[in-house]
Amino acid sequence: MGAEFLLGVNFAIASLLAAAFLTIALYDDQRLSARWFALGYCLGAIFFGIELFTPLAHGGLMSESLGYVAFLAALVAFNTGVSRFYDVRQPVRFIAIVLVAGIVAKLMSDTMPRESFLRMMIYQAPYFVLQAMGMMLILRSAYRHRLDTVLAGLLGLTALHYLAKPFIALATGGPGATPADYTSTLYAVIGQTAAAILAVAVALILLVILVRNLLSELTEKSETDMLSAALNRRGFERQLDLAGKGKGQPLSLVLADLDHFKSVNDTYGHAVGDVVITAFARTLRDATKDAHFVGRIGGEEFAVLLPGYTVSAARIFAEDVRLRMQKLQIEGLEDGARVTASFGVAERAHAEPAISLHKRADAALYAAKNAGRDCVRAALPLTVAGGATPVSASRAGRSS
Ligand code: GH3
Ligand code: MG
Ligand code: MG
Repeated sequence: MGAEFLLGVNFAIASLLAAAFLTIALYDDQRLSARWFALGYCLGAIFFGIELFTPLAHGGLMSESLGYVAFLAALVAFNTGVSRFYDVRQPVRFIAIVLVAGIVAKLMSDTMPRESFLRMMIYQAPYFVLQAMGMMLILRSAYRHRLDTVLAGLLGLTALHYLAKPFIALATGGPGATPADYTSTLYAVIGQTAAAILAVAVALILLVILVRNLLSELTEKSETDMLSAALNRRGFERQLDLAGKGKGQPLSLVLADLDHFKSVNDTYGHAVGDVVITAFARTLRDATKDAHFVGRIGGEEFAVLLPGYTVSAARIFAEDVRLRMQKLQIEGLEDGARVTASFGVAERAHAEPAISLHKRADAALYAAKNAGRDCVRAALPLTVAGGATPVSASRAGRSS
């Protein structure tokens, strides 16, 4: 059997992959990378189309060169997609040199015998370099997970397969006397089969990676509050559930509510009220560390999840935020005007459900409001709280 059949299969695979990446591009704003991948597979399809019709084109050299350029362009488009997706720069000048040197060397080597090892190496070398560059770009990325490393590995394997081709050609009786003869060689069958397997493997992993990123971006968007950029209630509750499953380390919850916020709205208007909410969220975020989560769980009510914090550490945190708010001059408010906040703190007891922890923090917040606002109150440990008031009577943190 000739390799026309396999070329046809590869043409179909490349076209289908181009369509798949174009479909993803509709939903994707990840620096247009899906569009570049689609272009890459389109150019790949053109390459296979040209190879397929080369036997019909008399002489064949002209169309072989055209196919060569199309495949180089496909690799450049693919790498551009990689560099955009992984946010790494391509060495543009180096690529230009590889392309120009590659094409000139290929045209010059056209006078050599087709079975010449040097000629075949000259043909494959730019493919090898460009594909290996795709791998390097991924390895240089800061956002690399396990799947990305697998993709980089597959690109490295694909790059090596180009280098292996001249050896395979030698071992299997050469690449055919003319470009038109190529499709009837065993070399073509092996080469086209390897190309199909590698291309499908690379594309499948790449599709999974693109879709994975798309999904996590959508999830992040659906769990973020637009005004304050904090987590929204849904996002916060998910983190609270996740943190609740962690064992062995303390976990504290702080609820914070702005004081007399209705009067801020009444005095300055809703727009300034929004600015105050944003400033409050920023103050909370500034006081937290990486592993902490800030969520806007009501209009001007926020929650902070503090993994690793005991109730006393959480209290110090809340006190810090309270003092920051006391000092904060917010744009839009008259000079010297301050918006304060009240805080309820609770530490999770062993195996305590999230809802109970939330209830106790809420009771502590209520106590802070009742104590005159602009202060921090902590819930008593669950075991001690049973029946009695769940909020400590300590007035620590109250400075007004
Ligand atoms: P307290 O000290 O007891 O908390 O008094 P408060 O006036 O802050 O009372 P409460 O917490 O019940 O008030 C919440 C107010 O927040 C009511 C609502 O008009 C306002 N609010 C809720 N969401 C928003 C928002 O997105 N923007 C603005 N500007 N105001 C909001
Ligand atoms: Mg309030
Ligand atoms: Mg409120």
